[in-house]
Amino acid sequence: MRYCRTCILPDTRPGVTIGEDGVCSACLGHRDKEERIDWAARRAAFEALVSDARQRGSGYDCIVPVSGGKDSWYQIVKAKEFGLNVLAVTWRTPARTEIGQQNLDSMIANLGVDHIDYTIDPDVERRFMKAAFERVGATGLPMHMALFAIPIRLAIQLRIPLIVWGENAQLEYGGTAQERMATHLDADWLAKHGCLQSTNADDWVGAEGLTHQDLAAYRIPSDPGFKVESIFLGSFFKWDSFENTRIAAAHGFRHSSADLKTGTWDFADIDCRFVSLHHFLKWYKFGMTRSFDNLSVQIRSGQTGREEALAILRHQGWDAPLADIQAFCAFQDLPESWFWEVCERFRNPAIWTLDGNIWKIPDFLIEDWPWQTCQPT
Ligand SMILES: [Zn+2]
Repeated sequence: MRYCRTCILPDTRPGVTIGEDGVCSACLGHRDKEERIDWAARRAAFEALVSDARQRGSGYDCIVPVSGGKDSWYQIVKAKEFGLNVLAVTWRTPARTEIGQQNLDSMIANLGVDHIDYTIDPDVERRFMKAAFERVGATGLPMHMALFAIPIRLAIQLRIPLIVWGENAQLEYGGTAQERMATHLDADWLAKHGCLQSTNADDWVGAEGLTHQDLAAYRIPSDPGFKVESIFLGSFFKWDSFENTRIAAAHGFRHSSADLKTGTWDFADIDCRFVSLHHFLKWYKFGMTRSFDNLSVQIRSGQTGREEALAILRHQGWDAPLADIQAFCAFQDLPESWFWEVCERFRNPAIWTLDGNIWKIPDFLIEDWPWQTCQPT
């Protein structure tokens, strides 16, 4: 396991590769954003897409997939700035937080958009999450499948020509040079980067008794018959999570330190209690926590020095979202021991070794890491 010498990402994180100079692909993405990408040309390309969408749109010009989080606000603000008639679409998490609901409500009212809050039968969500967790160690798989499939299917069926997604994750968190330059979210991208473990909805028929009909919301039409441009806003305008938060807050987005669920940002991952579980599984699979992501962005933006980031990480420790794990087990009506047993099945043997009865990662980023505290009590 190697770590970037500039930020703190490990090369176990999907998309992160570390070059001979010790610099990771996410840091190269930051360099691309500052030096390589011609933002004026990208803006012109965006304007052309807007013009096409406004010509082809027969009611709404674009769908903006939203959770109510800071990035959602920014996406809507930007789309409206260019004159697009927006339909905001949410996959409604079965574990929405109070602040998440408040922010979503005020976003719709304050920004003035039409909105669909798309709810899947909670029992289908429950069974799908259980199956995905037990089979592939990914509680977030149904969430990702739904939040990609619902806007894409609605765009096709309602004949809305454009979908404006948020960041290009490969540009922000690591990907190949070609992926970092990508502008469109297509089927190939979904298969590789959609957190779907190379599965589609029909691969889950039969799991936990799920039927073909149960999984309707997770399915994308195979023959669209209508062209939808599906783009990353972060490929056309330089993405900055802090700036997005500032813009959102200026319109009424709220957050406070009491909302912090995981990582170091109290303005992100706050609208769903189960998102923290998706990030937490990275500990077992990749040997990292959400703070590795957050702090690395802080380092690249010059807000936090690398030494300072290491001290924050050391102080924060394991960062297991225990309250959210409890909530998830209550949702599943299963004991917490079940959760921990399943986690153990996905501990990556390529990076973890057993020292006595304590699991450790040799050559971990922080030498005096408190391994003995990194286990359920
Ligand atoms: Zn890096």
